[in-house]
Amino acid sequence: MRAPAVHAGIDLGGTSIHAAAVQAGTILAEAGCKTATGREPEAVVEQIAGLVDELRQAVGDATPLEGVCVGAPGGVDPVAGIVHHAPNLGWSDFRLADALTARTKLPVVVENDVTLGAIGEHVYGAGRGTRHLVALFVGTGVGGALVVNGAPLRGFRGGAGEVGHLVAIPGGRVCGCGRSGCFEAYASRTAMEAMIRERMAEGRKSVVPKIMKKKGKSRMSSSVFEAALDRRDPLMTEVLAEAQSHLATLVANLVNTVDPEMVVFGGGLVARLGARFVDPIARQARPAFLIQEGAERIRIVPAELGDHSATIGAAVVAVQRLGG
Ligand SMILES: [Zn+2]
Repeated sequence: MRAPAVHAGIDLGGTSIHAAAVQAGTILAEAGCKTATGREPEAVVEQIAGLVDELRQAVGDATPLEGVCVGAPGGVDPVAGIVHHAPNLGWSDFRLADALTARTKLPVVVENDVTLGAIGEHVYGAGRGTRHLVALFVGTGVGGALVVNGAPLRGFRGGAGEVGHLVAIPGGRVCGCGRSGCFEAYASRTAMEAMIRERMAEGRKSVVPKIMKKKGKSRMSSSVFEAALDRRDPLMTEVLAEAQSHLATLVANLVNTVDPEMVVFGGGLVARLGARFVDPIARQARPAFLIQEGAERIRIVPAELGDHSATIGAAVVAVQRLGG
């Protein structure tokens, strides 16, 4: 029997690109770079091709890469390999699969990044063995994906699962999507950073600026959050608690809609804070489950694959679509 195929899984984000050579859920090699945003899409294609070359060299000729799957942040046509709408990249209707195949000479498939994260956790991570799963990724936004009857729920136009844009507070904070009051506008890492800055501008004190300066960070990264929480900064603790309270409402709404076996939280902040992030959400969400019978069997947990949920999910989709 031949060894399982090796594919390149690419997690294309607005800030950085993570690439991994993956064989049956195991990462053989990794590469990454900052995303060339604000330039033409071809510049990013060149970056991805460079990362694929790095992975090829790292895994060697004995285990050649058989294909590439790219997770893009936004609306995609997975069959035609087109990124329709990716505001974080400034792309619309870009034929990513064709452009990357021309450059790498490998078959390329494209999928939404959050969907890939959910697939990674479903097949190889925390969600192994579940049939119904809700995945929430907290980062620049609040990404969501639903696995129903063992398969990702795509919807009529491929737009299912955008649960970060369910409305928490009608007429509330302006969201990155241009509407107002979305859960994402209260519970993403970006939103939490904005709220901390606003409250400091109103005169609240916080150790956050000092920590950012010490770490040489211009934004409130996950490590800044963690350091401020470790020092029991009242403002950071307060804003995180508010975000967790909103996420608990979101989880309860989704449990009442989908009735999943598991809600899995991923993204950089969750990877860093783990149970400290997820447990207060679970505690607040559970009393709001409409059906309480058997509710204790619904698990609410951090992702197991850390930053690799999407790259490993990408390799799963590569195997499904390209074979191997
Ligand atoms: Zn929104």
